[in-house]
Amino acid sequence: MDQLGSPDAMRAWSDARRAAGERLALVPTMGALHAGHARLIEVAHAHGDAVIVSIFVNPLQFDRRDDFDAYPRPLDDDAAVCAAAGVDALYAPTAATLYPPGFQTHVEPGPLADPMEGAGRPGHFRGVTTVVAKLLNATTPHVAMFGQKDYQQLAVIRRMVADLDMGVEIQAVPTVREPDGLALSSRNRRLSAEARRAAIVVPRALDSARACFEGGERVAARIEAVAASVVAAEPLARIEYAEVVDAGTLLRHEHVTGPSVLATAVWFGDIRLIDNVLLDP
Ligand code: AMP
Repeated sequence: MDQLGSPDAMRAWSDARRAAGERLALVPTMGALHAGHARLIEVAHAHGDAVIVSIFVNPLQFDRRDDFDAYPRPLDDDAAVCAAAGVDALYAPTAATLYPPGFQTHVEPGPLADPMEGAGRPGHFRGVTTVVAKLLNATTPHVAMFGQKDYQQLAVIRRMVADLDMGVEIQAVPTVREPDGLALSSRNRRLSAEARRAAIVVPRALDSARACFEGGERVAARIEAVAASVVAAEPLARIEYAEVVDAGTLLRHEHVTGPSVLATAVWFGDIRLIDNVLLDP
């Protein structure tokens, strides 16, 4: 596995592989790799000849300094995971390399970035679109993998790639979960044992709301209330939002008439977890 630390070195690597006729697949991550990331790498192998994993904890997308500082960065372990997974190139630049003095250009997302994560984390998606544009420019992949666990991020990235004619195929990968249903996340490793036990209310809330939907409920507020009431029963959990939105526009409708998503953010102490489920009538 080759390791690259600068955009120029990364692009030179990709240029050589492209010249050899290879199809390149990128898996962008912030590291602290888990089985969810491993699944993205597996899917990447199915979509490309060479797989690039990027690891970069992007300061631009963090709205809280404490969350950025506490974000796990086990780079040596991550490199071993990538090598074992047959990754061809690991791109792990530093923040000083990606944002040198004088950096001032950003990618401004549109209304898809406004609700839910955008409302709770000001500037978050502007940081995501900017760094993903930079990662795509440096790695020049044919296809890039994104997890459905971050549903709004996937929607914002698809829009950016289409709007800016980036010519990269975006491949969505279903959420990988623990046996008890909790979605895998790098932030899970920061949960106390107690909070980890409590965190199963998140998938339970989504399951209950989905069951309510499958039982025929179409009023968005009632589906949201079911999810909120499951979370409210757990004293260690505090809900930030549970919203039913249109799967394409991410706009809230009073009634679920087409493909929709129930997305939620729940706090356990200072750890914030997100998850979602598709509701398709
Ligand atoms: P992150 O390192 O958390 O920024 O995530 C990197 C990529 O992995 C993103 O596209 C995420 O949506 C995806 N991802 C994270 N957790 C999971 C999961 N449990 N299942 C599937 N994809 C995931």
